[in-house]
Amino acid sequence: MNDFQDLSGITPKAIENLAKLNITNIFDLLFHLPLRYNDRTVITNISDITCNKELQVIGQVYNAKVVFGRRRMMTVTLIDDTGEITLRFFHFSSSQLKGLSDGKRMLCFGEPRRSGNRIEMIHPQYRVLQEHEIVTLSDRLEPVYPTTKGLQQKRLRSLVDKALKWAEKQKTVFEDVLQDMPGMSGEIIPMLEMLNEVHKPCADTDKQSLFDRQHPAQKRLVFDELLAHHLSIMKIRVRSNLRKSYQLKSNGSLTELFMQNLPFKLTNAQSKVLEEIKKDMSADHPMMRLVQGDVGSGKTVVALVACLYAVENNYQAAVMAPTELLAEQHFRYFSHHLLPLGVQVAWLASGLPARKKREMLELISTGTAAVVVGTHALFQDGVEFKNLAVSITDEQHRFGVQQRLQLTRKGTENTIHPHQLTMTATPIPRTLAMSMYAHLDHSVIDELPPGRKRITTVAIADSRRDNIIERIREVCQQGAQAYWVCSLIEESDALQSQAATDTHAHLQAQLSDLRIGLLHGRLKSTEKDAVMQDFINKKINVLVATTVIEVGVDVPNASLMIIENAERFGLAQLHQLRGRVGRGEKQSSCVLLYKAPLGDLAKKRLEALRDTTDGFELARIDLEIRGPGEVLGTKQSGDMQMRIANLSKDLALLPDVQKAAHWLLENHPERVEIVLRRWLGNAVEYANA
Ligand code: ADP
Ligand code: MG
Repeated sequence: MNDFQDLSGITPKAIENLAKLNITNIFDLLFHLPLRYNDRTVITNISDITCNKELQVIGQVYNAKVVFGRRRMMTVTLIDDTGEITLRFFHFSSSQLKGLSDGKRMLCFGEPRRSGNRIEMIHPQYRVLQEHEIVTLSDRLEPVYPTTKGLQQKRLRSLVDKALKWAEKQKTVFEDVLQDMPGMSGEIIPMLEMLNEVHKPCADTDKQSLFDRQHPAQKRLVFDELLAHHLSIMKIRVRSNLRKSYQLKSNGSLTELFMQNLPFKLTNAQSKVLEEIKKDMSADHPMMRLVQGDVGSGKTVVALVACLYAVENNYQAAVMAPTELLAEQHFRYFSHHLLPLGVQVAWLASGLPARKKREMLELISTGTAAVVVGTHALFQDGVEFKNLAVSITDEQHRFGVQQRLQLTRKGTENTIHPHQLTMTATPIPRTLAMSMYAHLDHSVIDELPPGRKRITTVAIADSRRDNIIERIREVCQQGAQAYWVCSLIEESDALQSQAATDTHAHLQAQLSDLRIGLLHGRLKSTEKDAVMQDFINKKINVLVATTVIEVGVDVPNASLMIIENAERFGLAQLHQLRGRVGRGEKQSSCVLLYKAPLGDLAKKRLEALRDTTDGFELARIDLEIRGPGEVLGTKQSGDMQMRIANLSKDLALLPDVQKAAHWLLENHPERVEIVLRRWLGNAVEYANA
């Protein structure tokens, strides 16, 4: 019932044009809301005209003629009992002119403007009235839809009309599902009535609220759509809870050994989160948990211990990172800690030579490797685990939607599903997180390891580059190391790499007594790895890099971060980059080099960064500066393709949406499909993947 078969008289051409507007079924058409409305419900006296607002007048035609000014045009004087205006047409036919003889009555709709001491309308829509015709005014505002070339407004209106008539006959799909929810304030307008009201509002409706997108009917539709999305996300969880997973009884044998060798004590926050994870993994359905922890809060060790829970039960664990660089680092870290415990770690990334890859796949499928670390190559076809108990995704926000879908699908082939742990350093404001990740339990590592000193941050115009270079010399002479991030955002990989290469040469010339390394996206993975190793082993003093080092890289001895073109980066990204330093006990600093003059927003960002090092606080500021749509980033907002709701504008509705979704699932799970069907239609399956 979801395509256009139920609409009579729709041509293939119309279908083609509708597709350009992303309208591919009746529901799309119904939820294709007007941009604005024409008010043809009243006739305005010419003397009462207010300029620059569309309105309708009736008058007698006088002196319609062609004039040759700078442009050839037809002018008409229109007179009613109260005054007169001029109509101007630049495009007209001779028959049009002929039809407008003196004394004819004309109904005219347009936007009056003042020109000198006269009022005129350019290209109004008009209709010549029959001799004694009595004009019946519409009692509805006329919708103006976003449309496309080849699809006239009139045609689109009639299609929407047909869709609305079709909808009248569909009882269930437009059923109201919240009418008996306690605490729903006020009377609920039935769904269909709301749709009609939004498409063709009554003449006496509060027009201003419609224009401001604050009309009750609009808000209820937005609410309903947000509800549909929330429910579809929560359904992922409901389904997941019905699945089976390995029930882990932690005996602590390996964990204890590991802790004994660990050079530090876990923070309370780390221990608390690990308790939550342990409890989740002892259940017979999959854990679905998101761990948020600011940069440097120590998420890796939490991931490692979660792996150990699986391994001490003789099951496998997988750890996935979004960049090869970070995956490599994890591989090293995990190997370093696990090999002494007799736990073998396998490595998987897409660039692996065939022979090596076969070898790894073998280790994984036989279970010889209890822990597997890699990029998303881990979840591609051909990778078979023997008994995967937990899969961990680090920096999950960096994975694309497709990759995440792949990840969840991986499990569905088996009867046993892995526990899922995702980690992110991107703090998302609470209301948003609860919505986007409604299917996940949330943990927060809200404490940094002891002894960390606050990173000092300064913003400096890049005309003072030389001072900075001196600063690098000092820092390195004291045995610490530095990063220099140079990036031309949005430029191609090649250009970025070139910029890094140039900076590298420049720095090497100026700091000839230091060793400067270079890391960019164009290097082979083995080369990248070698450079990174040299940096870790202090064979390199300064690492010049593109943003390849943005996430996860952990070299505690590095204490100076220089970010070039800082004004071009977003707040979240700057915070991530800065987070590469301040990871040990050294006093660290971050220099934000910018090109003067700074724009207002860039200035705000750099100031925020200078004033706080708290990721959650920065996320809050970011939200204020940019609004949630942007904060979520294109990747995430792509997850939620909404028709009319807009997370930036409708944020305030989210708490009530959450309440309603919970109420429905608890009290009327049978109604959930109704909401999903009308908003997500065919996409329901996809959304639930
Ligand atoms: P992130 O949360 O950014 O992934 P990492 O896991 O990379 O942070 O940890 C950052 C640094 O802090 C690492 O060098 C790690 O060894 C160290 N670290 C982690 N937990 C602690 C702790 N409890 N005490 C001291 N240092 C810690
Ligand atoms: Mg990390």
